[in-house]
Amino acid sequence: MTTLRIAHLYPREMNIYGDTGNLVVLLKRLEWRGLTAEAVAVGVGDTLPADVDIVLGGGGQDAAQGDIGEDFVTRSADLRSMADDGVVMLAICGAYQLLGREFRTQTGRVIRGAGVLDIETQGSATRLIGNHAVDSEWGQLVGYENHSGLTRLGDGVRALATTASGRGNNGEDSTEGAVRDNVFGTYLHGPLLAKSPVFADELLRRAFERRAGQVLEPLDDALELQAAAVAAKRPRT
Ligand code: GLN
Repeated sequence: MTTLRIAHLYPREMNIYGDTGNLVVLLKRLEWRGLTAEAVAVGVGDTLPADVDIVLGGGGQDAAQGDIGEDFVTRSADLRSMADDGVVMLAICGAYQLLGREFRTQTGRVIRGAGVLDIETQGSATRLIGNHAVDSEWGQLVGYENHSGLTRLGDGVRALATTASGRGNNGEDSTEGAVRDNVFGTYLHGPLLAKSPVFADELLRRAFERRAGQVLEPLDDALELQAAAVAAKRPRT
């Protein structure tokens, strides 16, 4: 049986709106199928473990992003070669911005990114905030967004989802998140995977496809889908 190795980037600094829940969801969905995973927390100065199958990163305030920015950028080459090698990555909000080329904060600070995703983010005076349900190849993704950074997609990525409500990446072009190879970035917190079980399994399926071709038995997702329906219906604040 293959044990997946999941690297969780900066769990102390980058974990707002429950993003660590994405790790819990992946571990649980494996456990419910009798499968196992090893989760490795990677903080400032820690070595990225070898043979990683999945990389997770959560959201953080501009200040937290600044704090880890220098450390993050030292990992650029490693993260890019992992992405080229098909490692599955899910980066939420602040970590999504840092996987891009650069993030210019509202105060003019330039935080360089890892260049894994062809995106750029500009801080703004507008804050995009509220529950959000968007349409993706893996059905509806349901989460919560709260960011003032506005992200533009380059030619090297495609949107993860489209949004009818006009928020998402930048409030203008109806895109939400970005995808290249097995790397996914999104503004959806909540945690996203708890209410987006099809997408959660897509991440696991891709990780296993690279390793051992493990077939994932279906789970009963009634509760998750009920939670998604409730969250998707709640009015935006
Ligand atoms: N600091 C970033 C912004 O506001 C990211 C916030 C977050 O991760 N929720 O754009």
